Amino acid sequence: IIEFKDVSKEFEGNLVLKDLNLTVKKGEIFVLVGPSGSGKTTSLKMINGLIEPTDGDLYFKEKRIKDYNLQKLRWQIGYVLQQIALFPTMSVKENIEVIPDMLGWTKERRNKRVDELLQEVDMEPEQFRDRMPSELSGGQQQRIGIIRALASEPDIVLMDEPFSALDPISRASLQDLVLKLHQKLGNTIIFVTHNMKEAMKIGSRIAVMHEGKLVQCDTPEEIQKHPANQFVEEFFDETT
Ligand code: ATP
Repeated sequence: IIEFKDVSKEFEGNLVLKDLNLTVKKGEIFVLVGPSGSGKTTSLKMINGLIEPTDGDLYFKEKRIKDYNLQKLRWQIGYVLQQIALFPTMSVKENIEVIPDMLGWTKERRNKRVDELLQEVDMEPEQFRDRMPSELSGGQQQRIGIIRALASEPDIVLMDEPFSALDPISRASLQDLVLKLHQKLGNTIIFVTHNMKEAMKIGSRIAVMHEGKLVQCDTPEEIQKHPANQFVEEFFDETT
């Protein structure tokens, strides 16, 4: 569903991505893992057109990203960020229905979807629908961040270190939530983390990045059993 072909990116003379080749298949949870500065966020932002490659091309459903209308493309791609990015002056319900609203869904359809998604994350609609983000805990806000990204049933959801600001217990329960929603909805998820343990838990396949290069792309089992080089082995040991 997504393909990177010889993608490189330079920022002010610094090459931060080097000839990246990757294919993400429909329906998988694809994890980009690596230390800080290895180019994970840059790669992710290229998928929804927030960053353009200096060289090479990216494809979404076999069409070049740069040939899409970017606004329409972003409506098809959910996005969850590390810092919780709910609109502070909008209620939970209004936050969730932003994209469905832009897509012209009827009020009935939007209401139904909001309640269905709140139930999915064990937040009673009656109780939470009209709350403001400031009236929620960090973990609850991030649950809303996740269901907001899923609201319009996008083909792909990008998640950039969505849980790194949370305590270990909330983090584990949100990881379980992502797995549960993925099993149910079957959409494609591309997930960025610097933590190999998180990558191993949720990834169908994992791409390990180091200094702008892809060093290994495999299933969690393969990466654990046969790390491609010393870097992968040490990174695995340090972060699991
Ligand atoms: P982290 O886990 O810290 O978010 P990352 O692997 O996601 O790291 P990127 O954010 O992709 O890394 O950054 C890769 C490199 O590109 C870094 O050296 C960063 O400083 C640089 N970089 C990213 N965005 C810009 C920018 N807009 N201008 C200049 N340099 C940038």
